[in-house]
Formats: sequence, structure tokens, C-alpha cells
Amino acid sequence: MSLKIDSVLIHGGIDGDETTGAVSVPVYQTSTYKQDGLGQTRGWEYSRTGNPTRAALEKLIADLEQGEYGLAFASGLAAINTVLSLFKAGDKLVVSDNIYGGTFRILDNVFKNFGITYKIVDTSDLDKVREAIDEDVKAIYVESPANPLLTVTDIKAISEISHEFGKLLIVDNTFLTPYLQRPLTLGADIVIHSGTKYLGGHSDTISGLVVVNDKKLAERLYYLQNAIGGVLAPWDSFLVIRGIKTLGVRMERHVNNARRIAKWLAESGYVSRVYYPGLENDPGFKVQKKQADGPGAMLSFVLNEEYDYRRFFKNLKLITLAESLGGVESLVCHPASMTHAAIPADIRKEVGIVDELIRFSVGIEDADDLIADLKQAIENSKKAVM
Ligand SMILES: *Cc1c(COP(=O)(O)O)cnc(C)c1O
Repeated sequence: MSLKIDSVLIHGGIDGDETTGAVSVPVYQTSTYKQDGLGQTRGWEYSRTGNPTRAALEKLIADLEQGEYGLAFASGLAAINTVLSLFKAGDKLVVSDNIYGGTFRILDNVFKNFGITYKIVDTSDLDKVREAIDEDVKAIYVESPANPLLTVTDIKAISEISHEFGKLLIVDNTFLTPYLQRPLTLGADIVIHSGTKYLGGHSDTISGLVVVNDKKLAERLYYLQNAIGGVLAPWDSFLVIRGIKTLGVRMERHVNNARRIAKWLAESGYVSRVYYPGLENDPGFKVQKKQADGPGAMLSFVLNEEYDYRRFFKNLKLITLAESLGGVESLVCHPASMTHAAIPADIRKEVGIVDELIRFSVGIEDADDLIADLKQAIENSKKAVM
């Protein structure tokens, strides 16, 4: 029976426990497994290599992304580390110009030391992507919508370019989740998630996920997952499975709240710019609408000059100043000094990550309460008139 995504969220992957009938997948808190004789395992050998709770999550994320093979890691960056380990010295990656700061950091300060280089390109501009491809380029790495300016990249168009040149397309789908966007169906080769965000959804665990369709690619990634060892623990696998069950209802509410707040901000007179692909005048609106089932609930805005962003952060009462996103609670952050501090100031400025930029992960609280909190925090942050 082919199930719709709301049912896959709850019954996808491995549904419950065959042996006992438990409706939740048990936490197999074990490091190793008894072998019945030399070379006679029951399918499990050692929990770095494979664990039933992790396997249930791996199958679930593959089902949700409409892919074949899923892998779970100890963090989004452990997932990214493993994917980047597919490459070797001399290889080059074309990378979106606004990506998660930690992704930039691992490229710039870890993989570059191993001779794997990168070229930053505005991947929303297809001509620029085409121009950036040369023989050394082995993959294109995009986030859409990207962090923190919510720039939308046309995944299908990029996948056509990458396949024309025989390159891999890697998409970080953290911001929309498979509930709203399924990059493999748009032609991506590898989908990456920080499960820490919407998939887990409750700001209580760190995790990363990868999904692919190609068997050879999957075999190499499973090999690297075991060889590198950044695997997700059984308990955290359980928490992410549990989070995913409510992803649908959470995302509906997240998106409704974000739409209302983006509209309110844009009309408020308090801000000079709102970045949100759900607004009709946003440059990413059309492509986003074509390739995803919703614009997500991440938005960024630039406060008008008369307001002091430091005071704004201090004034917030309901909304929390913190790193991370995608949890049930609303969080704001200051990309220039927090999530994107790893990006050099000149590159930050060039791509538009100005000091006045505020990123908002809209939670599922009451939208009126969130708007009231924003309003009082902004009004009380007016700079003193000289
Ligand atoms: C948080 C995040 C990551 C990194 O994930 P961790 O779980 O923090 O390691 C990667 N990509 C995006 C888009 C993120 O938001």
C-alpha cells in the first residue's frame, strides 16, 4: 500500500517491534551481539556497524525522502564529514554562497587541509554554477532555502546541470525537511539533514542523516560511516524517530506562524528587509513554490537603523536567544556573531550577512504572543537620540 507522507511519518521505516509487538521501536542499548558460532551472526555484529534502533531511523528517513538508503550520524556535521570523505585530494566542490557556518568551517579548516577545495557560488544563479564547473569539480553542494538569507536554489535545474557534467548534487534539506521538500525526487544524489532541527524537533538531541538512491554510493557511504565512526547512538535514534512522528503537525503550525509573522514584520515599519520565501515579493517565491510544499518556518530580517539589535535581543521575553533552529520553541540568533561567525567578515558582508541581520526560527507557540513579544522588544530597543 502506498502511504501518504502523514502516514509514513508514523508507520514508515520499521513500525514497532516484531518480537514483542511493542508499538514503539525499542532502544537497543547494546554495543555488541552474541554470535551463535564462528561467523554465525543474527545480522548484527557491533553497534558502530549496525544497531536495530538506528536502522529503524535510517529506514524511516529513506522512506520519507522517497529514497532507498538512509544513514544516521551523531550530528549533522558528522553526516557532512562522512559525505565529504567521498572525495580525495585534488577534488573540488561548488558550494552555495550562503550555507550553514559549520559546513563552511569543515570545508575551509578541515577538508582544505586534505587537498579538497571549494568554490563559493550563488547557486540561485544557474549561469554562475555552469561557469564554476571544471574537471576538478566533483560535486555541487547546496542548501535550499539557504542559511541565513533563505536564498532559494532551483534544485531540479541544478541537478540537470550537475548530471550534464557528470557531477554529484548534494542537498542539505534541513530547513524544509522531507515533509515539505524531497530533493531526491528533484534529481539530487545525496540528501543531508541535521536531525537536530525539525526532525528531532524538540531541541533535546543532536543528530544527522543522509539519504541516497544509488546502491554503489550507498555502499561507499555505509563503509565510511563504519570506518569513520560518527554514528548516532540508540537512545538518540529513538528520540529522532519519536520526533518525526509529529513532524507533520508541527510543520503545519510552524509554517502558519512563520507566514503570519513574516507578513506582520514586512508591514510593521520596524524592518528594512524580510527574507522569507513565503512572501510573494521574495526573489525565491516562485521556485520555492514549484519545488516544495511550503516555505518552511525560518525567516530573517534587518531591523531599521533606529533600533539597537543588541537591546532587541535582551528585551525578548518569550522568544529565546540561542543557536539552533527547528524546535517547538521560537529561537532567534545573530548570524554575524553566532552561527556564521566562522565565515570571514568580508565574505559575510559580500553575501549580505550584515551585523543588523536577525534570524528567526519560528516556533509553534501562539502567533499573537510571538508578534507581541517582537513588537515590545523592538519598540523598547530604540537608540537614544543624540
Ligand atoms: C545545524 C545545521 C547543520 C549542522 O548540524 P548539527 O546537527 O548541528 O551538527 C547543518 N546544516 C544546516 C542547514 C543546519 O542548520
